[in-house]
Amino acid sequence: MTPSESAAHTAAPPALHGAIALDQVIAARAPWDHVVRRGQTLRIIDLEGNQAVDFLMYKLGDDAERYSAQDTMAAQGNIFLRAGTVLLSNEGNPMARVVGTAIPRHDTIGGACSCESNTLRYGFHTKSQHACVENFLIGAGHHGMGKRDIVSNINWFMNVPVEADGTLGIVDGISAPGLYVDLHAQMDLVAVISNCPQINNPCNGFNPTPVRVVIAG
Ligand SMILES: [Zn+2]
Repeated sequence: MTPSESAAHTAAPPALHGAIALDQVIAARAPWDHVVRRGQTLRIIDLEGNQAVDFLMYKLGDDAERYSAQDTMAAQGNIFLRAGTVLLSNEGNPMARVVGTAIPRHDTIGGACSCESNTLRYGFHTKSQHACVENFLIGAGHHGMGKRDIVSNINWFMNVPVEADGTLGIVDGISAPGLYVDLHAQMDLVAVISNCPQINNPCNGFNPTPVRVVIAG
């Protein structure tokens, strides 16, 4: 990236509308969960750059309705999440809209890392490393959910390019310090985040870092 591109990408995010209901830093490798009300905006900021933020959401009060990667991709006819993407539930209802983001695309096909997938991909010595599925279980567990509720997720800020023949990779990030994504909730939601602890591939630049979450409106 050229210096001018870098300067453009790290410009401050736009001001959020409404009162700030929460402004919190999620430590590197940590889980997080919170209710986001219909009409509120959830902003996620990649504080230090190239940090994958694994994300799931459920309808508050009826967690059988939850984010559906398949329905979201099919409805928009595209596999990438961008500004304007409507994130759909497994019942086809809009859960949140991506109203703004400073990077060109986010991923929803790369999945979440787990102790099991780490062991398969990177060797048995990685079995004890903390992973996103364990974070999701902690976050979802605060709302009475468990392993069967951990469905295909979103990876904000993660770069999963897809070649013409369908090959996909997890490669060096396209994010940078201070870049953000804003989600406008279309229903009352439980949002669950794993600030990805992965250190065996470039999704976090081999160095997991904190992110910031703000809920406004
Ligand atoms: Zn992960």
